[in-house]
Amino acid sequence: LAGLMEVSFADIISKCMNLGIMVSINQRLEADVIELVASEFDYEVEFIGVDDAAELEVDEEEDDPANLKPRAPIVTIMGHVDHGKTSLLDYIRNTNVIAGEAGGITQHIGAYEVTLPSGRAITFLDTPGHEAFTAMRARGAKVTDIAVIVVAADDAVMPQTKEAISHAQAANVPMIFAINKVDKDGADPERIKQQLASMNILVESWGGKYQSQEISAKKGMNIDLLLEKILLETDILELTANAEKQASGTIIEASLDKGRGYVATILVQNGTLRQGDMIVSGQFFGKVKAMYNERNQRIDIAPPSTPVLILGLNGAPQAGETFKVFADESDARENAYKRGQILREQGMRAKKHITLDEIGRRLALGNFKELNVIIKGDVDGSVEALSDSLQKLSTEEIVVKVIHKAVGAITENDVNLAAGSDAIIIGFNVRPSMQAARLAENESIEIKMYSIIYNAIEEIKSAMEGMLEPTV
Ligand code: GDP
Repeated sequence: LAGLMEVSFADIISKCMNLGIMVSINQRLEADVIELVASEFDYEVEFIGVDDAAELEVDEEEDDPANLKPRAPIVTIMGHVDHGKTSLLDYIRNTNVIAGEAGGITQHIGAYEVTLPSGRAITFLDTPGHEAFTAMRARGAKVTDIAVIVVAADDAVMPQTKEAISHAQAANVPMIFAINKVDKDGADPERIKQQLASMNILVESWGGKYQSQEISAKKGMNIDLLLEKILLETDILELTANAEKQASGTIIEASLDKGRGYVATILVQNGTLRQGDMIVSGQFFGKVKAMYNERNQRIDIAPPSTPVLILGLNGAPQAGETFKVFADESDARENAYKRGQILREQGMRAKKHITLDEIGRRLALGNFKELNVIIKGDVDGSVEALSDSLQKLSTEEIVVKVIHKAVGAITENDVNLAAGSDAIIIGFNVRPSMQAARLAENESIEIKMYSIIYNAIEEIKSAMEGMLEPTV
């Protein structure tokens, strides 16, 4: 910064001290501080391509189109509790044709791959529900290609069904509806489709764009048809990866195993992982000592979309953390060390998220187009009224987008959704749970609470007009 502004380090340090910020010469400044200091020297700062400093820089070398080959889709199953997510995952796991020959899937590693009779494969994330999906997304991981939303036909579209839909939509992940339990008396798939339609989600048989399949997870009925529909969606998405390069991907889960040291299930999303590769994830690194698939078989190579359990890391990275292979061991070590240092300096502080105060500043910078909000309230009427009024505040410059609205207290899921979508949370006559409040604090997510609709609208309106007095 000193170099760019042609001033001395000492000038910067003393300016910082004047501003009440104690810094040393080899300390990284946060974006806010950089802006503040620069403005003291009459400079305006433009950040180009700023990213979370602690994130892994995956080199974006251009892939030779000839190397881009179709890859298996990665699927997450979501839906309301007891609607049959686990049953569906279990059924698919147990009937896997290839796994069948090898004696079935023997261990739960967080993800598994099935190969269909046609020879095509699908990878399922083995933690049902949108909680894991959203928590990973809050850390910036993009793991799911397709979401299967399970709805029990003898029940109804329930709060968690709606939540799952909002979460998939916010992540821009296509959805397929699995209308489950059609074997049961009182099952009424048409009622479910009608309820979806009332949320503006039209399935194909209702003239809409969403695929749906009536199934029985328990009896194994029509699961093959559901899998076909997943492949159809895959074809539309044209998912490809380059198996020729070094692997990169995401950590699904990681832990310390007494006998084996740190074990991590990772999903190779691009490139091919080989035993002996040097990988870095977050502040941890290590040589892949051994790799296992979900059938506990040792494997030496893992092409794109393969989930594998690996041994050899020197720690347990968080789920959702990215990983990357390094050709050079000392590069890997240095990279992991640097990231560890940044994390320590920042005190594990999360990325800066949107706040009402921040809206005016981002608008002035000119690249802020959408204000994402999540609305939780005590009764449906006020949630709808608030949602309508806020969306009407949209102007040509900035669109207010309600990415999720529901009745109930503010939960950790809401905070994770806000973190993944850079949203603010509005509570109307409701409060966050203790855990949600703590998470919001850690993730720097703003939660605004109101008990008068007019106040909520006025405050957000003035924030959008850049009129809010900054609170320092
Ligand atoms: P989850 O909470 O969404 O993972 O739901 P589970 O898979 O645990 O299923 C909840 C209950 O519904 C269990 O008792 C299952 O046996 C039952 N169940 C799941 N799918 C079906 C189905 O297709 N038909 C019937 N009759 N019962 C089902």
